Amino acid sequence: MDFCPNCGKILQTEKNKKGQTILLCLKCGFKRDLETDEKVTLTEEIEHDLTREMTIVMNESEIDTTKPTKEMYCSKCENKQKISFWMVQTRSADESPTRFFRCTACGETWREYD
Ligand SMILES: [Zn+2]
Ligand SMILES: [Zn+2]
Repeated sequence: MDFCPNCGKILQTEKNKKGQTILLCLKCGFKRDLETDEKVTLTEEIEHDLTREMTIVMNESEIDTTKPTKEMYCSKCENKQKISFWMVQTRSADESPTRFFRCTACGETWREYD
């Protein structure tokens, strides 16, 4: 049995418009959602998903730092910088993969033109 925190009267069980069971004080109109526990569980699940997504993103950036680098001219920095590079198989498999470059100083990314 629950009591109203405002006036101390015994709370009545009612159904709201959504069909959820709520506790209602007939004296002052105080309402409490009985399904609050369920919502807490739901929030925990969402937080769990976010943690998993963050882990995936972190793994990707780890891969990024393991890419090989070489000294190259960056047109944005107008200077020689450490440039990381990697190959991407674009369109069909019988075409040669495209080489991509990223400046580790400014983040500028470009592809190799031949
Ligand atoms: Zn009350
Ligand atoms: Zn740069």
